[in-house]
Amino acid sequence: MSKSRQRVSCNRAVLCGAAALASLVAAADWLGAPADARHAWAVHDDYRPGVKKITADGAKPPSDAIVLFDGTAKSLADNWCDGRGKPTRWTLDPNGELISVRGAGSVFTKRKFADCQLHVEWAAPTKVSGFGQGRGNSGVFLMGDYEIQVLDSYETDPDKNPNPNPNYSDGQAGAVYGQNPPAVNPTRAPGVFNTYDIIFHAPILNADGSVKAPATVTVLFNGVLVQDGWKLDGPTLYRRRTSYPKSPSTKGPIGLQDHGNPVHYRNIWIREIPPQCANVTHGNYYADESKVLEQRRATAARLDAEFDAKWGSAKVGRKLLEAWRVATYDPTPARLARAAALEREFLSVAKGLSARDLPGKAGISKGDLNTYYGYLSAAGLVKKGNEVAALLGKMK
Ligand code: MG
Repeated sequence: MSKSRQRVSCNRAVLCGAAALASLVAAADWLGAPADARHAWAVHDDYRPGVKKITADGAKPPSDAIVLFDGTAKSLADNWCDGRGKPTRWTLDPNGELISVRGAGSVFTKRKFADCQLHVEWAAPTKVSGFGQGRGNSGVFLMGDYEIQVLDSYETDPDKNPNPNPNYSDGQAGAVYGQNPPAVNPTRAPGVFNTYDIIFHAPILNADGSVKAPATVTVLFNGVLVQDGWKLDGPTLYRRRTSYPKSPSTKGPIGLQDHGNPVHYRNIWIREIPPQCANVTHGNYYADESKVLEQRRATAARLDAEFDAKWGSAKVGRKLLEAWRVATYDPTPARLARAAALEREFLSVAKGLSARDLPGKAGISKGDLNTYYGYLSAAGLVKKGNEVAALLGKMK
């Protein structure tokens, strides 16, 4: 028995009761509503592609992350440069922290990224000086264009009178600079590291370069949600309203801003993620019915190719079930004919059997077959009250 089959059986046993376990263990892995116009896969489909296993242990970057800065001079030299593509003059301290240097300019990754999950840790200068935008100012730039503000906002508190460090809200730490303030202000004290976990989606463009879907950004600031799928108006600007230029960039470097204050950075990693519209075969907002159909046809063809080897010697009920299952992905006349032939064979075997004898003689339980014929009926592949349903209805 496959591990997935064991897991599925156990889950169902919890729901259905241990008494049902014996029949469920022998049941098919087709557990839910079949593919349809917007979904290439059945619910709980065990033919759906598996999920890549990674490790994500504690404070270490996930195993599939690209480490951009790990505290070593090598990671700095390999991955970062200044605005002219030269080695940066930012300093690396003995603790492995990268420190912004006034006048050295911002630093940028050599590699360009688009949609990503980005982890950055930063600390405002321990020696506090200045106010508002002049206190511990830096920033994380996505695609070189969109700034999530880094700023010492520890003392900024509008509930205090007077506010110890007043500032404009769309420019404090965690803001989409000039566009949207953070939902709350969880900034830690100067010298204490903060974390940004940023999920960024690049804008999606039409063929003519206009913006079909804006860039979006979600930010967890010290684990707290401060930006929730914010749709960006355009690249970051100072004092002015922004909008997207014609044909905005679709990839760019990650940047860390030099705003004249010695902000510290450490532990920077990134994971490239699919664009907003990548998921086109699993339902949801961007479902593309032509791609769904393409995937369904490919799945049916693959299952056809392995049908005889996998099910050739199975009992007729199980074989019938699998024939129908293939047909749910792509009900061609040949597949419907195969299912119809197996249905006739099943009816001749099952006629006169009791429900108790059905699994042993036909390889499937009455309950499971009833469930699957319910799916087929709902999908319009069999008529209500068909011969199998009628037989099962009479079966004791
Ligand atoms: Mg800034």
